[in-house]
Amino acid sequence: MAPEYPSLRQQTRGAQRSGRYDGPMLPAVFACRLLLLEVFMFRMPRGFTAVLAALILMDGACRSCAADPTYDLVIRHGKIVDGGGNPWFYGDVAIRGERLVAVGRVPAGTARREIDARGLIVAPGFIDMHSHSDFVLLEDGRAQSKIRQGVTTEVLGEGTSAGPYQGALSPRRVVVAGKPQKWTTLGGYFDTVERAGIAVNIASYVGLDNVWQCVMGKSFARPTAEQRERMTALVDEAMKDGAFGLSSMLAMPPGSLATTDDIVALCQPVARHGGLYSSHIRNEGTNVFVAVKEAISIGERAGIPVDIIHIKIADRKYWGRMNEIVALIEAARKRGVNVQANVYPYTRGQNNLASIIPPWAHDGGTAKMLERLQDPKQRPRLKKDIRDGLPGWYNHYTAVGGDWSRMLVSGKSRYEGLTMDRVIQIKSKDRDPAPAPLDVLFDVLIEEGGSVPTIYEHHTEKDMNRALVRPWCSIGSDGLALAIEGPLRRGNPHPRSFGTFPRILGVYVRGRGLLRLEDAIRKMTSLNAAKLGLRDRGLLRAGQYADVAAFDSERVADRATYTNPFQYSEGIEYVLVNGQLVLEKGEHTGARPGKALRHRLYR
Ligand SMILES: [Zn+2]
Repeated sequence: MAPEYPSLRQQTRGAQRSGRYDGPMLPAVFACRLLLLEVFMFRMPRGFTAVLAALILMDGACRSCAADPTYDLVIRHGKIVDGGGNPWFYGDVAIRGERLVAVGRVPAGTARREIDARGLIVAPGFIDMHSHSDFVLLEDGRAQSKIRQGVTTEVLGEGTSAGPYQGALSPRRVVVAGKPQKWTTLGGYFDTVERAGIAVNIASYVGLDNVWQCVMGKSFARPTAEQRERMTALVDEAMKDGAFGLSSMLAMPPGSLATTDDIVALCQPVARHGGLYSSHIRNEGTNVFVAVKEAISIGERAGIPVDIIHIKIADRKYWGRMNEIVALIEAARKRGVNVQANVYPYTRGQNNLASIIPPWAHDGGTAKMLERLQDPKQRPRLKKDIRDGLPGWYNHYTAVGGDWSRMLVSGKSRYEGLTMDRVIQIKSKDRDPAPAPLDVLFDVLIEEGGSVPTIYEHHTEKDMNRALVRPWCSIGSDGLALAIEGPLRRGNPHPRSFGTFPRILGVYVRGRGLLRLEDAIRKMTSLNAAKLGLRDRGLLRAGQYADVAAFDSERVADRATYTNPFQYSEGIEYVLVNGQLVLEKGEHTGARPGKALRHRLYR
């Protein structure tokens, strides 16, 4: 789908009318001759023959610059935010091939194409530090919802990653462009995704769950020394394939089966290859402080950097205490442990109303659960466990402090768009005595066949902001590259898949002034590149890869909401990946210049 450009003549005419010119420059030969003529007439007005001679002499040079312009693309007159946190400045960005060749005052030369970025911020493309696009990119490589946020690199991997699939873990069945694809290593995934063609770059960790299940299968047994060795060897193999480190999700099996010692052992090859440990910590609710300390101790013992995924306090019991978590991290940093974190700019998590039902009542599947809900004899036990909680269970009811107004029905159901306090009100109308709220919950689940997509407001804006402003806290969406049409418009996604980065720029920079624009952009670009050890991305500097996002800082905004998530963000005008235009005047060009980035240890 190559974009069609208006002819040069049309563009020039348009430019004359509007006073703007954003098409290709005048043909180089013509432009050079004009320039020379002016220069020589000015300097040597007396010698017409000298002018003529010079023109003839330079003719050859001009012909060669017509065939081979100095730059492929120059983005002119933007406000440059270089990604390093420096104040913006007016300037130009010149690109040749995949790289930036000049930033600031671009030396004279010709360009195949120019973009007038007057009124726009020109920044490095955003690096999404925590993304789940691994498989959706194989369905639609355009990465629509991410590209339209200015994202040019997605960092993949949490508990699971797109490899390895070996031993007891069989490969996922994947069809790319009608052909079945299979791979067994993370490197195999990198090759597959590059062959499929992607608009964004990707980088990936190796997920602890994959490594664990390759060796342990579905068993909950403790690994033997030999099994742990085999897992460590798999991490080593993935690091050799180009993984940026080990990632884990310790809040549920199989990740929760790994002890701190296990993880330290699995981090040994990561340390040798200069990678990092990225973790969704063991408990974000009632045990959040212990879980943060565990993440720090893993980094300290393994001697590697740690990035805590979507840092939050997801239980009312500890709301308001983010400063204590910040203090834990900063104390660790002070004694030389490189611990950092990422965050998404939302306070709600997506789940299901059924997640309020205790684990034992799910045994045997949905039909069994519904039977238990319908049985009046079971209800007292259900209610007691929901109110009091059970050890080891992340209880969404207590997490939001039993506050029904913090639960929003978000998916297809007759209550869509209502908070549960409203649902309870409606269902209690004209009933005397009014039913207990938990009975209404059971009834709603029965009515809806056991599943009601629900958004839980389980952490607070204040805590999220306290983390967001720390200099080591960067931005990761925890979302996927989706689309408003086609096969990737499905389910009921969290709006973060569509809105994370523009939301930071629109709400937290422009709206609330919580972050300077330059700091916000640093958190989306060079900070993430530095965490990963990506030395050639994340900054607008000559020599870096030309991943660029240009946007209107007055207009940039997220549009996706919890009840209407399929809405692209606004205000992102141009996005370049590896020097190629992927978004042009807010429209996807169809280009797929993305690469699978492989981690390499720089020595
Ligand atoms: Zn997570």
